Amino acid sequence: MTLVDLPLGRERRVNAVLVEGAKLTLVDTGVNDPESIAILEQAIAGRGHQIEDLQQIVITHAHPDHFGAARQLAERSGATVIADPVSAASLVSYPKGSQQYGEIRAAFMREAGAPETLVEQFGQRGVRTWVPAESVPVGSTVDDGDQIQMGDTTWQVVQTPGHAISEISFVDRASRTLLSGDIILGSGGASVTLYAYPGGRPGRWVLDILASLDRLATFQPRRILPGHGREISDGARAIAERRAGILRRLEEVERLVQKQPLLAWEVSLAIYEPPLAGSWPSLFQTIGYLEALEAQGKIRSTVEHGQRIYGSH
Ligand SMILES: [Zn+2]
Repeated sequence: MTLVDLPLGRERRVNAVLVEGAKLTLVDTGVNDPESIAILEQAIAGRGHQIEDLQQIVITHAHPDHFGAARQLAERSGATVIADPVSAASLVSYPKGSQQYGEIRAAFMREAGAPETLVEQFGQRGVRTWVPAESVPVGSTVDDGDQIQMGDTTWQVVQTPGHAISEISFVDRASRTLLSGDIILGSGGASVTLYAYPGGRPGRWVLDILASLDRLATFQPRRILPGHGREISDGARAIAERRAGILRRLEEVERLVQKQPLLAWEVSLAIYEPPLAGSWPSLFQTIGYLEALEAQGKIRSTVEHGQRIYGSH
């Protein structure tokens, strides 16, 4: 198994994983950009294969940094593209829905009390222009409990929502290897995201992340190949640390809003240090903690003049 580190814009990186053996498989593809595809091509050549040899392209979740190049790679190789059913629907219809997704997030940011400059900057950065990506013809779907052969190994498919509304991870129990997508990042950082659940609120996504981490912990993984960042060698420990970090933040945020009613923006400025304080990732993360606490019944919120204020009961 080879983790391929690919460029994502000027500052960030994203991973693809090449799984060699009887079924040559690529898990995630990076973006649809000539530089990124050239790097991928080189990495595959370095292992003695070419893109044309790919038999399967498996997508962990429907974010364009993970599936951007899938259409092109599938056309070149004839590989079957595989995803979970919910992600598959987004992949096939991309970028339909992306504009609406941007508008929902801008609305959450306004409600959180974020400065209009941040909302506008984010609003203009529609998902379509965020990274180059094309819609993907999905040939087959797998979901929780299914098995899939990649390389020479039969992997267990585990549904691990939280970072995305639907995301699949892959476990090889024998070698205790986990392909985690973005539910666990190599940086140990938060899987920052913000999306609406049916019904309109961001809702439970931090709680979903916790449940997904608990689920993955039961496999006691050693090696984790994440969607971003470096390979993790002590997987069980990384999961425990990630989980503890979320619980610490939840307690911290609960204490703050129990003392006085606050907007999500105010909470984010209070709990993060510069340069994270005042950035959209920390705001999204904060909204996630607050919404999780409200979903647990520990705090409650009211909307006044278009802004959502969180406080004690
Ligand atoms: Zn990602």
